[in-house]
Amino acid sequence: MTYSTNSQVKLVAGRLALDFVNTADWTDDGALLKDRIASLADLAVWQDRVGLPDAHWDGTLDQLRDFRHQLRRAVLGQATSGLTVALEGTTAPSVDWLRRQSLRSLISISALSVLADPRELDRVKLCQGHDCGWIFLDETKNARRKWCLMEVCGNRAKSTRHYARKLEALR
Ligand SMILES: [Zn+2]
Repeated sequence: MTYSTNSQVKLVAGRLALDFVNTADWTDDGALLKDRIASLADLAVWQDRVGLPDAHWDGTLDQLRDFRHQLRRAVLGQATSGLTVALEGTTAPSVDWLRRQSLRSLISISALSVLADPRELDRVKLCQGHDCGWIFLDETKNARRKWCLMEVCGNRAKSTRHYARKLEALR
């Protein structure tokens, strides 16, 4: 299921770039598992939800996938190079300048702001759910957030543990 065929857009990451990474599920090895953006219609639904309906994606869908993968590796510290950041224009950024940026640029700016601030980068976490692969900025006070969404991955992990305990008890 993709965004234009009823898969809900879930914004859990706290930053644009991280929520963009979460438009797919990833295996525990970091490979693409389930993509919710299979068409420009899917992308439009996501852009609406993040409040950027007019930002233009300046490439193909394959390029979008590559960009997303690079971004994920960069914020997880798995790659120190390879993230091609596209910022158009060389004048000092202003709100007007931002409005003219492509979707790729806006997501890059968001990623750079996370990468630029060690306090944020320290708080980028990978959901502990099996084959979820979503990332988020842990903004809880005690920095102990483990899941993208408790009701999805947290409960799944709990019921797996519960099932394992039950099996153990039966032996
Ligand atoms: Zn998860």
